[in-house]
Amino acid sequence: MSRPIQVMKFGGTSVGSADRMRSAATIAAEASKDRAVVVVVSAMSGVTNLLIAAAVKAAAGDEAVAEALGKALREKHHEAIGKLISGMDERRELLAEIDALIERAANYCHGCALLGELSPRALDVIAGTGERLSARMAAATLREMGHRSVAFDASDLIVTDDVHGGARPLADLTRTKTQAALFPVLEAGAIPVVTGYVAATAKGIPTTLGRGGSDYSATILGAALDAREVIIWTDVNGVLTADPRMVPDAATLDEVSYIEAGELAFFGAKVLHPMTLRPVIERAIPVWIRDSFHPDIAGTKITHTVRPAPQGVKAVTATRDVAMIAIAGPGIIGVPDIAARIFTASASAHANIVMISQSSSQDSICFVVQAADAARTEKALRDALYEDVHHHDIEHVKVNRNVAIVAAVGENMCGTPGIAGRVFSTMGNAGINIIAIAQGSSEYNISFLVESSGMEKAVKALHEAFALGKQK
Ligand code: ASP
Ligand code: MG
Repeated sequence: MSRPIQVMKFGGTSVGSADRMRSAATIAAEASKDRAVVVVVSAMSGVTNLLIAAAVKAAAGDEAVAEALGKALREKHHEAIGKLISGMDERRELLAEIDALIERAANYCHGCALLGELSPRALDVIAGTGERLSARMAAATLREMGHRSVAFDASDLIVTDDVHGGARPLADLTRTKTQAALFPVLEAGAIPVVTGYVAATAKGIPTTLGRGGSDYSATILGAALDAREVIIWTDVNGVLTADPRMVPDAATLDEVSYIEAGELAFFGAKVLHPMTLRPVIERAIPVWIRDSFHPDIAGTKITHTVRPAPQGVKAVTATRDVAMIAIAGPGIIGVPDIAARIFTASASAHANIVMISQSSSQDSICFVVQAADAARTEKALRDALYEDVHHHDIEHVKVNRNVAIVAAVGENMCGTPGIAGRVFSTMGNAGINIIAIAQGSSEYNISFLVESSGMEKAVKALHEAFALGKQK
């Protein structure tokens, strides 16, 4: 490739209406003046939810939902196309393609209703319809504006394993396919528009990368094409020092490291799909988070190199979407391999463990899982420990959903003494009780568990104590 490649992804709100779609196309067209641009699009906002809800209802026996789905999708997309595409032939052709895709999704839903069943594989086919629609619309919009543009289905580019609903890319196969398909288009000066979220196995069976997966699509393609950079156009103006709904004076960070962004994504700052940075770290491709509503604002650059935050802590993040599981009580002491058995049981329940702490007396082990995993994990633990503890008349496995994790994140906390002390004295001064503490040995975050009612206060107090609203 002679020109540097830029992959840019537009999220659901950034293509959520005819106006937004036109703004997105304008941003891409502008960038394409001096770069080779690859566009990745999400479904129009709300569409993926609609598709998944319809599939689930259909499988529960609702036979009318397929038709309602078709109608809702046609209305939304026809309306936007009416405003975007003026050429009669172009419009007719696009509408025919759109209608065929919508009909296919509705037919799959109808099939689910007849069978009374929804396999993960079928759900992936249905759920990925929104991106197939929006990619065709975005390419047509670019053509309407006088640019050459071609829509691509990422199931012809990104090759994954067969874990439906959360597939992982196979880098080498993806690289070969993506380069073969997109290099000629880019060399010819056209702008490819690729569906986010969707992919396919080596056998061509459609998969998805998990909810919010279009970010991941963009970095997978960026790595496969050795892009100069990847831009995630979204509806916030970058990575913030805290959630602005909790902390009104939260500031946008100019730069964060891959590690910091990863920690933030993991702990509830829903800016990025948690896997997003994996493909680009090794190749050191920078990722920008930018606001498509305010393209004049530079946004946040995510790279290897970080500017040290004066206070060590760069951002504070928190989530209530967790539950604490404690295994405690007499009878736990002396159970052989208790920790190993607890974590084997949790793993068998596919629990995503977010944090672990064990007291040295070994009479209690507590860990935190994502809220959605709590019930499954609880059952697996009860089953696994039943033989050992059922003769004691107490509950050994307790689940507390009324908790939140708060995390202070910053790569430069590493090796800076006194930060943990400041974090916890801040909590003490604010009168917030800490239930459990964890710091990874990497020292990129200090996280702790509080009652969920204290979460917001904890975040505000830390943000204030480390003067985060005033740093850049
Ligand atoms: N449309 C998909 C979702 O809503 C993927 C994405 O938007 O990133 O999860
Ligand atoms: Mg998203």
